[in-house]
Amino acid sequence: MNDPKFIADQKKIIEREIARLEKDVVKSRNYEEIGSTNEDNALEFETVEEKSALLKNSKEELKEYKSALKQIDDGKYGICRKCGQTIEGGRLKAYPAAQCCATDAAKK
Ligand SMILES: [Zn+2]
Repeated sequence: MNDPKFIADQKKIIEREIARLEKDVVKSRNYEEIGSTNEDNALEFETVEEKSALLKNSKEELKEYKSALKQIDDGKYGICRKCGQTIEGGRLKAYPAAQCCATDAAKK
């Protein structure tokens, strides 16, 4: 994948996603603090658990987007981490932070 326009577009999307995810992570963190001081509400607790799960996802996604951004800077964007093949363009469009080709992602 060495089409500069495609990569420039992907970079824009990735930067936008990083900004969004960072906001999400901060928001969830605030929520967790509110939840932990509110001890007399079991329902609240469940919601906090749910939020923590979401927060974990956001954090992982954020990590992937950040490494994708680094790969762009290193000129290694779109290369499968496992087999070193080029990741399918359609796959990168669907998920710009994809770290593996479709074949390797299916093996997981
Ligand atoms: Zn692969």
